[in-house]
Amino acid sequence: MRGRAVLLSIILAAGFFAVSAQPVECEAVTVGDIVFLVDSSGSIGTENFKEVRTFLSKVIENLDIGPDKVRVGLAQYGTDPVQEFLLKDHMDKTSLLAAVDKITFLDSGTETGKAINFIRDRYFTAEAGSRASQRVPQIAVVMSDGESSDDVSIPAKRLREHGVLVFAIGVGSYNRKELEIIANHPSGDFVITSDTFQALQGLRNTLLKSVCTSLEAQREGNNIYSSSWFQVYSVLFSLIM
Ligand SMILES: [Mg+2]
Repeated sequence: MRGRAVLLSIILAAGFFAVSAQPVECEAVTVGDIVFLVDSSGSIGTENFKEVRTFLSKVIENLDIGPDKVRVGLAQYGTDPVQEFLLKDHMDKTSLLAAVDKITFLDSGTETGKAINFIRDRYFTAEAGSRASQRVPQIAVVMSDGESSDDVSIPAKRLREHGVLVFAIGVGSYNRKELEIIANHPSGDFVITSDTFQALQGLRNTLLKSVCTSLEAQREGNNIYSSSWFQVYSVLFSLIM
């Protein structure tokens, strides 16, 4: 058992040393439910929001999308959260990318806590297309500059306790403390930051590597461990590399 885990680690390590600037494809990944929660508050700004949309498209282009493969849901938020599409809504890449392209900037307040509650209640459910009951890994990627006007700690804790692995991406003049409260721990490994929205594009592979490896390792891990700590271990491992 332990031998297989070690072998997996070596394979992953070899893979990462081979990674260049080329796009990362999630070729080996079979399944995963990923929900993006995107800050669309006034503090982001119209031009920067375009960069966010480009980033999302590029990430999705590199995922193996399909009803029995990777499903993607997306919500954006300002003062109130807005449902863009659920995990069940777009099961092919073309229609997913078209949906991302249609997202328009909200330019309102920043109630991140309320938005996190929203995705837990509306997205990570069987009715919305979540396959948590089939042990499909559940991942949330919260993108924000991290200046919420409501409490994020309780909503984020409840989302993680719901079995969702939470990444936080901070861009621009982000508030790191707040992002650390949102993400899984140790936060240094689950918080990804970029000082500018232009530089965000360079984070695509960092995020893809983390997410893809967590999905892949979870799939491999099903035969070894059934507990979620293996998934967390795998993500940590990928981020350390
Ligand atoms: Mg804001």
